[in-house]
Amino acid sequence: MAAETPDASHTDRHPTPDRHPTPDRHPTTDRHLTPLEEASAGVLGMFSPLETVRIPLSQALGRYAAEEVRALHAVPPFANTAMDGYAVRSEDTAGAPCELICIGRSGAGNPLEMRVGRGEAIRIMTGAPMPEGADAVVVLEDTAPGSTRSGSGGTVVIRRRVYPGDNVREPGEDIAEGEVVIQAGTLLRPAWLGVLASIGHGEISVYRRPKVAVLSSGDELLDPGARELTPGAIRDANRPALIGLVTECGCEAVDAGIVPDDPDLLLGALESALGKADVVLTSGGVSRGDYDHMHSVLSATSGGQMEWIEVAIRPAKPLAYGTVGGKPVIGLPGNPVAALVSFELFARPGLLRMQGCPSTARSRTVVPIAHELARRPDGKTHFVRVVVAPGEDGQLVAQASGLQGSHHLAAMARANALAVLPDGNGLLAGDLVEVMLLGHI
Ligand code: AMP
Ligand code: MG
Repeated sequence: MAAETPDASHTDRHPTPDRHPTPDRHPTTDRHLTPLEEASAGVLGMFSPLETVRIPLSQALGRYAAEEVRALHAVPPFANTAMDGYAVRSEDTAGAPCELICIGRSGAGNPLEMRVGRGEAIRIMTGAPMPEGADAVVVLEDTAPGSTRSGSGGTVVIRRRVYPGDNVREPGEDIAEGEVVIQAGTLLRPAWLGVLASIGHGEISVYRRPKVAVLSSGDELLDPGARELTPGAIRDANRPALIGLVTECGCEAVDAGIVPDDPDLLLGALESALGKADVVLTSGGVSRGDYDHMHSVLSATSGGQMEWIEVAIRPAKPLAYGTVGGKPVIGLPGNPVAALVSFELFARPGLLRMQGCPSTARSRTVVPIAHELARRPDGKTHFVRVVVAPGEDGQLVAQASGLQGSHHLAAMARANALAVLPDGNGLLAGDLVEVMLLGHI
């Protein structure tokens, strides 16, 4: 494919890459570019949720609920104490300080089956059921040993008055019996697993994890483990990165290896990948270079179902997508940053949809940019690799993460967001920019 020139930004060592824009990049002549929204919708349209499976909670982290879940019982299931202290009849503490007779001790899981009568108290530990007769708990810090000691505890001095309900957790306070606690499509984060357990569900129905084959294409590619770089060769960076992204978004990655620029080998590799996976992601060979065989091979394999488009974005302009035997195949560009940005924009939403995720877009927010972001009108939205972090004043600010060429993978690795630069003349330092968050800030 034609090498993309780096975007102009303050971090570029070559700050004027667009000085001689080629005619095909000019908006008036670049009519063939597909708007991003149209391309996104086209790719997403290939995906639908997979079958559902029932799995134990221990395997459910990061999956999406395929069912609505109701509480089998209330949480808490019974009234219990929120603190260590003494269960009392609150009216008996009206004259605090006062002394009550301690008639026993009750612990969580070892409740004392006794009733608290007038002038009495039960020593109680956090989580123990409220004894009958008691309506409040005096925390330990507000008590002192009483004047009398006996086998069952003697007396206790209550130093502070309590009112009905003080330090008591009521049944159903958190969750009512029968309440819909989880909606279908909920991402099962750790706390949800705890909630499911607390309401009596040891299993949940989720969507099956998609199997995603990742295949790199190019004569120049060497395995990362290859001992020496032969002349003209580079290491296959896309496969490990894409396998990482696929895994990170909840799928099972299938390593489909490196395929040389040979139509027969490519066809064989594609067929094999399709046999092992629900989705195939390829990188490289989607442009119009002499050795870009992906076009002919994928078009033939798909029975002409593939779309070959140029999206109005930078990086990641070339894109191929379509279904083969009902399975989505996405041909990502070869340049590593382009491949990863393309994954973010097109593949990730589809893979999330297969898992039942209802909102597949990355979160976006608006922050100031720390420096000028120069660009020229070219009919495209630019995605600038940035780090969003608190500035000196503690407020979030975006800053380019390094060189912005589509082969500058280190800057992509440093970035935690993509700044979305609309078509136009760029931004000045301090201007607000929309950022698509790729992970933690
Ligand atoms: P292509 O899309 O095949 O024309 O490749 C565009 C550029 O990306 C070329 O410089 C390739 O060498 C490079 N490239 C393609 N695939 C990979 C890969 N898997 N890892 C690293 N660079 C790649
Ligand atoms: Mg190639």
